[in-house]
Amino acid sequence: MPLEILFFSLLFLALAVGWWLGRRERRNRLPPPGTTGELSRDYFVGLNYLLNEQPDEAIETFVRALEVNSDTIETHIALGNLFRSRGESDRAVRVHQNLFARPSLSRDQAARVQLELARDFMAAGLLDRAERLLSELKDNPSETGQASQLLLIDLYEREKEWQKAIHAISPALLRDNPRLKKAAAHYACELASQLLSKNNFVAARKQLKQANAFDASCIRATLLMAQLELQSGSAKAAIRILLRIPEQDPAYIPAMLQTLADAYRLLDQPREFMATLEKLLSSHQYTSILIHLAETLRSQGQHQQALEKVDHHMRRQVSLKGVDYLMDLYLHQAAGEERAHLLTLRNLTNQLLERKPEHQCHSCGFQSQQLYWQCPKCREWGSVKPIIGVEGE
Ligand SMILES: [Zn+2]
Repeated sequence: MPLEILFFSLLFLALAVGWWLGRRERRNRLPPPGTTGELSRDYFVGLNYLLNEQPDEAIETFVRALEVNSDTIETHIALGNLFRSRGESDRAVRVHQNLFARPSLSRDQAARVQLELARDFMAAGLLDRAERLLSELKDNPSETGQASQLLLIDLYEREKEWQKAIHAISPALLRDNPRLKKAAAHYACELASQLLSKNNFVAARKQLKQANAFDASCIRATLLMAQLELQSGSAKAAIRILLRIPEQDPAYIPAMLQTLADAYRLLDQPREFMATLEKLLSSHQYTSILIHLAETLRSQGQHQQALEKVDHHMRRQVSLKGVDYLMDLYLHQAAGEERAHLLTLRNLTNQLLERKPEHQCHSCGFQSQQLYWQCPKCREWGSVKPIIGVEGE
């Protein structure tokens, strides 16, 4: 396996450098005779394990053989990291813990090893132990301190401890980190969402303002603010806020339509709703807008107008979802054999639609039926958007 070969090549290289450095140092210190002999024996034992296809035993022997001194610390850190990257976090913890116990480490070296150990614990799912190590490191005025802060935020994010995650973000960390700004806005949105579900409007509004301060382009904050206004009875304010979304990012128009429909329903203004939808449709040919428009026409008893509108738009820009909906409209008028044929076709489009993802991550390509604010695959925030085109909107 190429990965195995790469791993063992790196392991050998690391060990060879470590062994050479260790030997050079021992020569300089004129150690008692026999030491080099023991080292070589360990290497032969390790090689023997490898030749007998016992890589686990070989690795243990090689790691034991590598002496820890100021020249080989980097090699030990790298070895532990190699184990972690292979998914062997137990081994990574052993290597880094062994290193961490050495009293000869300088303060900087100890901090770096502690950071790697925290990474190992995170990889092993031992988040409380990782949190303890990172909390001790986060105020370290070095690059290690900053890396620890970022890792601690990542840890809180994984644990869905949104308040702690926000608390762990320092202005210095935010300054040059657009990804963190985006993530921080979503942490505040997560809190706002929880507060909204308890109708705690004052606290939710405060969180949404904070989300906006972190990232003014956060669509989710706009959507939640509109929901807040709607839930607290201000439908007009909700509509005003929602209509900012086509300017912020038109890809999210489908995600705002239900709240927009609810707001106009609360105001009992179907005509105004249809006018807004017509305006949106003139610049964004999304099937969801068309369906909302047709459904509102039907609710006003204008079935034929709804059918003609959808038919007209589908001829200009076809989508599977639109054709499926159009067949539904025709079914309402059809009878006898025609109805049976249409039902067969509609069942087929239904089957096709059932399997079609409606959203896609613009960062890693992950596809899903539902809209995730954080991609479950690459963990990017705000990268999953509705799919536009024949197979989507
Ligand atoms: Zn992704």
